[in-house]
Amino acid sequence: MSALSKTQAGYIFKKGAGHIVKAEVPIPKPTGAQSLLRVKAAGMCHSDLHVIGETLEVPTDGYVLGHEIAGELVEIGDSVNPEVFKVGGRYAVHGLNSCGSCEMCRTGHDNDCTGNESKWYGLGISGGYQQYLLVPNSHHLLPIPDNVSYEVAAATSDAVLTPYHAIKNSGVTPSSKVLMFGLGGLGSNALQILKAFGAYVVAVDVKPASKAIADEFKADEFYTDISQSSWKPASFDYCFDFVSLQVTFDICQKYIKSHGTIFPVGLGSSKLTFDLGNLALREVKIVGNFWGTSQEQIEAMELVSSGRVKPQVHTTELENLPESLEKLEEGKINGRLVMLP
Ligand code: NAD
Ligand code: ZN
Repeated sequence: MSALSKTQAGYIFKKGAGHIVKAEVPIPKPTGAQSLLRVKAAGMCHSDLHVIGETLEVPTDGYVLGHEIAGELVEIGDSVNPEVFKVGGRYAVHGLNSCGSCEMCRTGHDNDCTGNESKWYGLGISGGYQQYLLVPNSHHLLPIPDNVSYEVAAATSDAVLTPYHAIKNSGVTPSSKVLMFGLGGLGSNALQILKAFGAYVVAVDVKPASKAIADEFKADEFYTDISQSSWKPASFDYCFDFVSLQVTFDICQKYIKSHGTIFPVGLGSSKLTFDLGNLALREVKIVGNFWGTSQEQIEAMELVSSGRVKPQVHTTELENLPESLEKLEEGKINGRLVMLP
């Protein structure tokens, strides 16, 4: 590692800045269970905008953003098994920074780890918007299938994993009628996963250009405004909301059947209100969703490797991050934009 310089360029989150901040950050030396990853790809999630805009609360600042990460293992700490974690190998990061020993981790819910002080990669500890990433515990590294590129593996680590986690655990069947909002980074993959489960999918995105995604991945119907359709209130078994503003959540409440389930996967508004009179009397469920487990990330990579889910990925470079995030904010990105450092 002596060939490496001691610092590198990274883009950090600074409270109050209102934009991503370029900084010289250290290239740490891994010890113990740690390892060092050469970042090959880092996906740009809409959650970054919620963090930078401080509508999504994260405990601290001063760390490198970027939570969809894939790269090459370049160095391992002295207690890492070199037979399991191979220097030169291709790995995706399970971004949850799970401890492995809390009750949530032990019961297979490592996405809800309580031992990590609510600090996730790129959301509390440093993430992928840099060239070299310190992996605090090498068990966060998951091997990437040979036929999956770094940029697709990065996008899979959240933009596929999060909808996969929500849909896999939802109870969706081939006879389910599903209403979904948002066909962006997450939603474009959610549509493909819902179709893989055989559901009838009505997709809504305010952006007319999203019809191309709806058509490509065989949404049964597409609208920019569901009120323009012939669907009546209380028609859908499931609503997957990849926006979660009050406006979309209200539409979900209106169109969900009695006993149906709403999944507000988006984080558009940190507080949403519901009509208790309506939801209680109709026994509608609202289910929280957070990212996905490490095992589900392996399954998501298998879905992608087998061609059943094809993440729509475009690439850019590290120095283009600030303007790329502006484009994401303006709704000018289709699918997922991934940074290659
Ligand atoms: P994105 O910007 O790629 O896509 C958002 C899409 O929603 C766009 O196509 C946009 O046109 C559409 N949209 C915006 N307003 C709409 C409205 N009123 N009705 C219908 N469509 C609308 O964003 P993304 O990266 O896919 O993220 C989506 C949301 O999911 C964000 O809020 C993000 O923070 C959240 N997220 C949550 C988790 C989780 O674990 N719960 C994980 C990742 C991302
Ligand atoms: Zn994300």
